Amino acid sequence: MDFDVIVVGSGLVGASLALALRTAGLTLAVVEAQPPRPATGTGAWDSRVYAISPGSATFLDRCGVWSELAQARVSQVEEMRIFGDDVRSEIGFSAYAAGLRELAFIVENRELQRVLWDGLKRAPDVAVIAPGSCRALTLAAELAQLELGDGRTLRARLVVGADGADSWVRTQAAIEAPPRPYHQLGVVANFATAKPHRGVAFQWFRSDGVLALLPLPGNLASMVWSTADAHAARLLELAPTELAAQVAAASRGVLGDLQVITPAAAFPLRLQRARQLVKPRLALVGDAAHNVHPLAGQGVNLGFRDARELAWVLAQRGVQADCGDYRLLRRYERARQEDIATMQLATDTLQRLFNNDNPWLARLRNFGLRLTNRQTQLKNLLVQHAVG
Ligand SMILES: Cc1cc2nc3c(=O)[nH]c(=O)nc-3n(C[C@H](O)[C@H](O)[C@H](O)COP(=O)(O)OP(=O)(O)OC[C@H]3O[C@@H](n4cnc5c(N)ncnc54)[C@H](O)[C@@H]3O)c2cc1C
Repeated sequence: MDFDVIVVGSGLVGASLALALRTAGLTLAVVEAQPPRPATGTGAWDSRVYAISPGSATFLDRCGVWSELAQARVSQVEEMRIFGDDVRSEIGFSAYAAGLRELAFIVENRELQRVLWDGLKRAPDVAVIAPGSCRALTLAAELAQLELGDGRTLRARLVVGADGADSWVRTQAAIEAPPRPYHQLGVVANFATAKPHRGVAFQWFRSDGVLALLPLPGNLASMVWSTADAHAARLLELAPTELAAQVAAASRGVLGDLQVITPAAAFPLRLQRARQLVKPRLALVGDAAHNVHPLAGQGVNLGFRDARELAWVLAQRGVQADCGDYRLLRRYERARQEDIATMQLATDTLQRLFNNDNPWLARLRNFGLRLTNRQTQLKNLLVQHAVG
């Protein structure tokens, strides 16, 4: 079986890349080990939600899936309020002040997976192999060869690793990506709130980690509390009423009393970057290429920007050009390096700055928040960058 491009992994980034490549005049295959389970129809809220930037929303719209999201499950962030560990330190961002309709959209992981997966299934020109397991990958001068667990062999000009943080493709290609664990978990849960959130996303830089409450439709909010492993384990053991009480107290009661509607779950957090994004006949996208701390809610947005850029580079290759050509792929790598490095540096620096007991550093960081809050132009610049 021969293709121009094989995408390994149809998570949010791999699936969006395959859909974005449909107009690039390429034959495509997607290999996914664990296709998403069909929705159970219970209407329960997924505890894993994303802050999708308007730039990512536009990209997903071009992939033909944004309008497929159930609107009743998407909410808009119109304001962000970020607090330091001293009560007077706050920085606020507003869509209105920046001349935007919204700063971000909050969407459940499951809902995004659903529309992307349905999009792939509807695409007659994408061969979806799922569940499919990969056994061996050979990158030769003319072609890449992917052996599947069922004995089939796929050949392609380009293989894209979109298979997440522990990427099998990256390992097969011998691309190093030394991880630096944060020794933190991102604890997630959803709550019904006594007070309306009015489209505001809240974040607190606390001595025990970074707590965020993101607005869901109605009087619901989604929590991400990035905190040390031991503290996270204690949060996960709490009874729902006790967890709600602790989160309400930690969030200074901004949304009043809370009630757990989706039980807590947790994800390990790490900083990681592949030393190369490309090799001849190979490219990496999404978490296979980089992992960032979730405090800026930018992980998947970075991945969508990879997918957008790679699709653009491949679409611009010219009629005769080989889509696995190293010089072409280097264009993608060069275009993505700065964005990835900047986001990793910014989130890692903030994480270190606030995850530190030094009283001088505490003063400095809180002063920094107050100072930045007074700089309208700087804030607008930060907003423009974040919305993509
Ligand atoms: C607590 C937490 C909160 C977060 N919040 C945000 C947020 O608000 N905003 C944001 O932008 N980002 C956020 N992120 C980051 C975000 O979750 C990831 O960046 C994103 O899911 C990466 O998508 P991906 O498609 O690259 O990888 P994945 O989602 O890991 O998908 C990889 C896919 O590859 C498949 N696969 C794996 N191995 C193989 C194989 N060998 N063969 C075939 N298929 C394979 C898997 O089954 C999966 O479907 C958060 C992360 C955490 C931990």
